[in-house]
Amino acid sequence: MEPVRDHEADIRRLGLALHERASRERPALYRGLTGALLARVMDDAPLRGVLFQLVDTLPQLADADDIARHLRAYLKEIPHTPHGASRQGWITTLLGLIARPSLAWTVRGFTRQLGRQFLCEENPKALGRLLTRLHRLPARVTVDAVGEAVLSEEEAEAYLQRNLLLLEALAQHRDTLGPPHLSLKLTALTARFDPLAPAGNRQRVLARLEPLIAAANRHGATLTVDMEHYELKDAIVDLFLHIAEHCPGPWQPAIALQAYLPDTPADLARIHTQAQRTGRRLGVRLVKGAYWDQEQAWAAQRDWPSPTLCNKAATDAQYEALTAWLLERSDALHPAIASHNLRSQTVALTIARRLKLNEQQWEAQMLLGMAEPLRDALIAEGVPLRLYVPTGDLETGIAYLIRRLLENTASTSILRQTYVEGRDVAALLAPPKPQAGAASAHDAAKTKTSTTSFANTPLLDFSRHEEAERLQMALAAVKASLPQTHPLDFVDRGDTPAPAFFIARNPANPNQVLGEITLATPAQADAAVVRARNAFPAWCDTAVADRSRLLHRAADLLLAERHSLAALEVLEEAKPWREADADVAEAADFLRYYADQMVQLADWRETRHFPGERNDFGYAPRGPAVVIAPWNFPIAILCGMTAAALAAGNPVVMKPALPALLAARALHRILLAAGVPPEVVQLLPGDTDVGEALVCHPDTHIVAFTGSRQVGLSILQAAHTPAPGQRHVKQVVCEMGGKNAIVVDSDADLDEAVAGILASAFGYSGQKCSACSRVIAVAAVHDKLLARLAAAAASLAWGPPEDPAYDHGPLITAAARDKALRYIAIGREEGRLVWQGTVPEDGGWYVPPTLFADIQPHHRLAREEVFGPMLAVLQAPDFATALAMAQDADYALTGGVYSRLPEHLTLARDRYAVGNLYLNRRITGARVGVQPFGGVALSGTGIQAGGPDYLKQFLWSRCVTSNTMRHGFMPEADD
Ligand code: NAD
Repeated sequence: MEPVRDHEADIRRLGLALHERASRERPALYRGLTGALLARVMDDAPLRGVLFQLVDTLPQLADADDIARHLRAYLKEIPHTPHGASRQGWITTLLGLIARPSLAWTVRGFTRQLGRQFLCEENPKALGRLLTRLHRLPARVTVDAVGEAVLSEEEAEAYLQRNLLLLEALAQHRDTLGPPHLSLKLTALTARFDPLAPAGNRQRVLARLEPLIAAANRHGATLTVDMEHYELKDAIVDLFLHIAEHCPGPWQPAIALQAYLPDTPADLARIHTQAQRTGRRLGVRLVKGAYWDQEQAWAAQRDWPSPTLCNKAATDAQYEALTAWLLERSDALHPAIASHNLRSQTVALTIARRLKLNEQQWEAQMLLGMAEPLRDALIAEGVPLRLYVPTGDLETGIAYLIRRLLENTASTSILRQTYVEGRDVAALLAPPKPQAGAASAHDAAKTKTSTTSFANTPLLDFSRHEEAERLQMALAAVKASLPQTHPLDFVDRGDTPAPAFFIARNPANPNQVLGEITLATPAQADAAVVRARNAFPAWCDTAVADRSRLLHRAADLLLAERHSLAALEVLEEAKPWREADADVAEAADFLRYYADQMVQLADWRETRHFPGERNDFGYAPRGPAVVIAPWNFPIAILCGMTAAALAAGNPVVMKPALPALLAARALHRILLAAGVPPEVVQLLPGDTDVGEALVCHPDTHIVAFTGSRQVGLSILQAAHTPAPGQRHVKQVVCEMGGKNAIVVDSDADLDEAVAGILASAFGYSGQKCSACSRVIAVAAVHDKLLARLAAAAASLAWGPPEDPAYDHGPLITAAARDKALRYIAIGREEGRLVWQGTVPEDGGWYVPPTLFADIQPHHRLAREEVFGPMLAVLQAPDFATALAMAQDADYALTGGVYSRLPEHLTLARDRYAVGNLYLNRRITGARVGVQPFGGVALSGTGIQAGGPDYLKQFLWSRCVTSNTMRHGFMPEADD
């Protein structure tokens, strides 16, 4: 078939006819009160923001006062701008009006009415009424049960039941509307849909889908699988193809694909090949793609390439090409061209007519409540049309409603251009003209900044098969290299007594010995510090640029073997894959970040001009640094402290924690390979006595410690007690524990709060200093939150982290397990055990994840730091009390707030004094340079790692003043 451009004359002729008919009236959305409101907000981005914020929060607001309060708060956030005078008048009137509760209710009523335009109430009667109305058009329908995010298996089951009921309700109208047609999200059929665990996804989704397919078979129904975010795309396409091949008809399988993805032609080709091979016709709904902004933001946050085409014109062009491609293959595929764009539908109809396709061979699709005039014009031209009808209550369909409102009011909206701006029909029908080579906004920004400033290392994208395979292979290779034996490679072995060994074991399978590592003695610790002292002058004199280059080289080497290093962490520290990869990436970030920063701090600079003098200010290294690290971020934290010390010009003795000796060894090997001299970076595996010896040595100038409060405080004391012969004050960089809380406000988005809390509490089995161990819920949401937390937690799977099908693994040691179990026993006495998960019974050092309610602020579970998957939920009467309870802790490391009221978020920002406060997101996962990390109180000394001030702790500052006056002559005066 000829390309679309060969039909431009036909497209124009047909398009004009459609437009003539479609422009006789406006879509319902742009008429009446809704139309007036949308017209007011369309060109006013801040006001649009207010509207969306309010609609988003509305279902959870308790009463008229609450609604008025939120609306007032959102409106107040709009900045005063000179050209906003008319808006200000409008706002003042509105603020006056909402003081009256009756108006607040009107807002809710209005939103309901608006929602009903796009969403059908989910009961057979309401559906029946709508279907009868649509049948008169005539149009067929596909029904989609929209709702809140599925976070638990109960919620997934409820989603299935809704679909079963909808299917039966649609079957009642079979005579008029044809066989039932449902659209569904595969991810809503299970609470755990992870691209890293395809077998588990398949098994859970198929189990739940079985009754739906049986019903679909009874009624000859079509089930269309909706497409979701890019990260899930491959997993969804794979699963769809599996289902289509293995779940025989008469039910009809179909899938939605997005034209804004460059991947889509290849996905379509796969689907087509299978349809031909199996002889089963597969439906394809071609959409443009609804998550463009989100995909851009996510890609930018992760520094992944943008998965979408660069702009709308490129998407439109691909849409047309794929429309033609699909229509030409309507023997094997059933194309559904889903668009509200006059040109896109005209192109489809022109091609369908040339191919002489009948109404069984293709169809157009549109959403309920959108572009009715175009819909009617297409129907009048005999286009087989199906309307996409979302069902549900407004409360749960709110995300859907917001998407539609955004779509209808965006400046790029074709509906807005057609019906509000009255754009010229020639422009509406002009072929799309993508600019070749145009990068997406994100990619362009990346190119601009990459040469000039630090950028985080992108994490591995495990939704790509290749990446998962590489880690699997690395795991196999690392396992084959075990157990490792590491004698002490420290040069001065001294008069050692019989060496002590540490046996490294896999926490998920303690019988598996990973290595045997010789431990140093305190005498060797002393010798190591002396060696570092001797190495100091040369390292200190090494040019900053050279030191910085070595650290950059180390980062490169680290990333060159990132899969193996991550695999080692999976085995040695029982880190789940993604967490292990993030640890390695963070280590590389620290190396680069401090190396770059040191270059900026290197030179002398004049303090300020002072006549007759020159005042030069600069930084100098302090002397040998002892780095004492914990095991929970085995490479990143050890590497971060070490990198800062080395960049600053201080030789380092690294003392890692026992459960992380193999990881530390790998890091040390890389630093040496990068060219850091062996006397400048020494590795000293050892126990507490070695740590103490290093801290107390008179030649130690810096102690950089990260670990528990108990050890940190004892190190501060020991370091600040001068040793005989010591002639300086030791600098101690000290990061300690946390007892972090997340506050959940009455208006919080619970979908987000539940997901964020579980990720923060159970990520790496709760073994993070940033982990959430307390949730403080405002009474109005307490019960609902607790129930959803318990249900959602139950969907997480615990098992050996080597298998990515498991979300979480064991604790690090038997002692850590025993301690956590003791606290579970304490929690049972102090509060109410709401839910406890199951973990593998034999083998690893597992602790069952446990959720407690009715914990009081004075309880041990609310006060003491315990590394483990235990979460205590406390209740507060109101937000201010909740915030006060959150702060009532010895620690001040991380904290979180879920709220949609700006004044509460501002209050938290001002009053919730923790090092890292996260608003409306999880509280773990700080990234170097983006979220400098560290706390105060008993969490640390208040200067944050990965932030602008950290490096200076490894330096001291000097000022040199030179008198420039010579017998009344000032050289600079002549300049
Ligand atoms: P830990 O305090 O038991 O051990 C930390 C390090 O100190 C280890 O290398 C250990 O061998 C060494 N050590 C122990 N006793 C010593 C002594 N008397 N003198 C010198 N060194 C000694 O901590 P851990 O179990 O490895 O790690 C978990 C703790 O670390 C938690 O409290 C956690 O909150 C904290 N942590 C804090 C941060 C942060 O950035 N604030 C980050 C990670 C972990």
